[in-house]
Amino acid sequence: MRLNRFIARSGVCSRRKADRLIAEARVTVNGVVCRQPWRDVTPASDDVRVDGERVRKEQTTTVALNKPVGVESTMAPSNGSRRTLPGLLAGTRLPASIAPVGRLDVSTGGLLLLSSDGDLVHRLTHPNWQVPREYVAVVTGNRPVTQRLVRKLQGRPEGSPGRTVELVRTDAGKGSTLRIVLHRGRYHEVRRLLEGAGLRVTSLERVSYGNISVEGLARGELRELAGNELGLLYGSVGLSPPGS
Ligand code: URA
Repeated sequence: MRLNRFIARSGVCSRRKADRLIAEARVTVNGVVCRQPWRDVTPASDDVRVDGERVRKEQTTTVALNKPVGVESTMAPSNGSRRTLPGLLAGTRLPASIAPVGRLDVSTGGLLLLSSDGDLVHRLTHPNWQVPREYVAVVTGNRPVTQRLVRKLQGRPEGSPGRTVELVRTDAGKGSTLRIVLHRGRYHEVRRLLEGAGLRVTSLERVSYGNISVEGLARGELRELAGNELGLLYGSVGLSPPGS
């Protein structure tokens, strides 16, 4: 396994940070400073250290959280009126190195994956892997949402991965419900798309990320991923699950 991947997969830090630690000469392999992130290491026999601390193959943890609206997708501490993930996760015994897989806006609720496997986090958020993210939005506007507008929202700009937009239903007085599937995670992408078409987003929820669904999770609740479900998630980004 490559040195940078081994450090990230051991739950020490993200892949990017592992590259930085290596460039800063803070990583040794069998007692010798190694500046090559691509160097092959054998976790069972090579002695890899960061700042002198042995890196051990850790049992990594990946969880699905139903993020409430009003909570920021950051591991920065909560303070005053700012509600962040550590406040929500207090008392759950998750490893300190757990990190969110991308972000959901503070005003968006629903599925947020978190993992202590930096390599998994890196790949799940990297545009190369085009992992599908599914959203449900309730919108209102001056005019009803027509199939023509849906086709316009669907658009396929040259060179960008496909986007799915479907009208689920329209409830008189309450607005229209749209299902949107994207394959990358650009800043405010769903809101920008809908607001750009003159719609007002009254609620936005992420309901799935890759093969993982938020179904069955109450607001603020989380569950650890395991077994086949976790294997499929790792497989979708070309990784083998921990312990295999
Ligand atoms: N798109 C948005 O606009 N917000 C999110 O939180 C996620 C996708």
